[in-house]
Amino acid sequence: DPSAKKYHPIDDACWKKNEKVPYIALTKTFELIEDTSSRLKMIDILANYYRSVIVLSPDDLLPSIYLCLNSLAPSYEGIELGLADTTLMKAIAQCTGRTMSQIKSDIHKIGDIGSVAENSRSNQRIMVQPSPLMVSHVFTKLREIANLSGSSSVEKKVNKIQSLFVACRESEAKFLIRSLAGKLRIGLAEQSVLSALSMACTLTPPNQSNYPPEIIDASKNLTADKFKEKYDKISLIIKTTYCECPNYNLIIPVIFNDGVYELPNKCKLRPGVPLKPMLAHPTKGVQEVLKRFDGLKFTCEWKYDGERAQIHVDDDGNITIYSRNQENNTSKYPDIIKRLTNILNRDKIKSCILDCESVAWDNDKKQILPFQILSTRKRKNANESDIKVQVCVFMFDLLYLNGESLVQEPFSKRRDLLKNHFEEIEGEWKFATCLDTTKIEEVQEFLEESIKGNCEGLMIKTLDEDATYEIAKRSRNWLKLKKDYLEGIGDTIDVVVIGGYIGKGKRTGTYGGFLLACYDSTNEEYQSICKIGTGFSEDDLTKHTEFLKDHIVKTGKSYYRVDSSLEPDHWFEPVQVWEIKCADLSLSPVHTAAVGIVDSSKGISLRFPRFIKIRDDKNPEDATSAQQIADMYNNQEQIINQQANNSANV
Ligand code: ATP
Repeated sequence: DPSAKKYHPIDDACWKKNEKVPYIALTKTFELIEDTSSRLKMIDILANYYRSVIVLSPDDLLPSIYLCLNSLAPSYEGIELGLADTTLMKAIAQCTGRTMSQIKSDIHKIGDIGSVAENSRSNQRIMVQPSPLMVSHVFTKLREIANLSGSSSVEKKVNKIQSLFVACRESEAKFLIRSLAGKLRIGLAEQSVLSALSMACTLTPPNQSNYPPEIIDASKNLTADKFKEKYDKISLIIKTTYCECPNYNLIIPVIFNDGVYELPNKCKLRPGVPLKPMLAHPTKGVQEVLKRFDGLKFTCEWKYDGERAQIHVDDDGNITIYSRNQENNTSKYPDIIKRLTNILNRDKIKSCILDCESVAWDNDKKQILPFQILSTRKRKNANESDIKVQVCVFMFDLLYLNGESLVQEPFSKRRDLLKNHFEEIEGEWKFATCLDTTKIEEVQEFLEESIKGNCEGLMIKTLDEDATYEIAKRSRNWLKLKKDYLEGIGDTIDVVVIGGYIGKGKRTGTYGGFLLACYDSTNEEYQSICKIGTGFSEDDLTKHTEFLKDHIVKTGKSYYRVDSSLEPDHWFEPVQVWEIKCADLSLSPVHTAAVGIVDSSKGISLRFPRFIKIRDDKNPEDATSAQQIADMYNNQEQIINQQANNSANV
């Protein structure tokens, strides 16, 4: 029975119907959230704020959502704030008459530029009190600031920041400056925002033109079971829609105009909007694959070690390429764009979304090159004439064709359509090498061939039954079989670096070790999994130290779950994902990864972890999850045997 039910969206709001939402209503909400450690409570608090906005000032829901996410547009549009501390310090100094060095020293002491900004305001002297800030105004100004570029843009940014800063009241300064720095970080991730929106839409349905009291309190009289049923349904629709169409600019108007239940019809997959990709489960050998897919038809494909490329073509011929993370990579690949015309028969193909892997390619030897070579390519605004590393694109799926989404079609059909509509060109476009077989020897042989062909191993996919494209899911219907399975736990692990230990001896001047964490999406927290000091070259250590020094925070975050015995010399913001290998996983009394899943009080830690590479294509929240860690732990030979013995003994 959520406490949100007790909240009254009109009576309990601090502004009136048809007024703009004051920014302070939002920052007060942030303060409450920041002081809460319970995830459910945070969602309730945010849902209550959204409910008031829905009823009183519907136009402000969209900017409110973006401000909660510390973003200004769908992430694939790449409009980012993240202003340098010096720019913000300059604005704070000019508004408050304090010197840069005073502010700098406060930041050093307190660690959070937002709190320093708030404290500095007591120095502020102004003749006329500016009018209070409104959510929509702040959002518009933040967008203007983000869009400024070119010469003297810093000065212009500082001016705009100042005009906002002088109007700040109470906690507004703190959150304004944190938002500008791109470090709102109050522990609200995308899933919580979607849950809060779902809760608000359950309690206060937004598509009612005139809210009579019984609608505002729509769910007050529902039993707890009925309420949960309704919330679960709405939340499923909103979250599924967001995976297919991660764009609030499209979703929110539909919620208001047509209601949540129309989302599946009105916010569909479309070229130009990246969808979250389908992912695979690790397996440790051909035996396991055959066991899991017993009785199903499946295919084995080479698993290429490059970068995922989702290629979109719309009806007007616009082409966009998105990364695994829905980042816009179009300007990275002018070569792919140019070559697309060679295989795009416009009589047959008006629009499409291709799922592919772009792989570094040796044109002379006609072979695949390792991922490390691909990662030397320029990330943005590449000039075709400057490109040294050639790529070949391996097409493995077709998700959309000529106005129709194919994600509900079985893979066999999608693959047929792919092969019937596109063609191969040596060294430019290839279909993923595949083999449809259920024979163990043939799968084993194909795995070995894939490794000789410089691939990571195989992807094994169901063809007909349970073979839809599962957006944003790590599906049981896609299995990965990597060559690494021979040496350990079946897969590498992607973790977030959250702390550093200062190096000694040969490693003086850099970090000598790091604290790593996995991500628990249920509690939206980072849980420590191991310390690491192996696998780094000297050059790696220098680069990591250089990069991480800009992300040091004074204390661990409230959403870091770390035992005090592991306290690092420096804590970091969760900003970078590292791929690591380990020998095995074991229960740990100090580490907190997956605590409560395998054991009620112990977590899981990695033994003999070794650094492999940085995963630039993953957000911290895409790190290996607590549940995956628990699954990997349970899937280890010795644990399976142990469990079998235990049950035999019983
Ligand atoms: P990792 O890449 O470390 O294995 P991940 O979580 O990014 O982890 P996985 O689910 O493990 O992704 O593997 C899927 C990735 O493999 C895809 O994102 C894609 O980039 C790549 N890939 C290469 N070849 C294929 C293929 N034939 N089919 C599907 N994905 C492929």
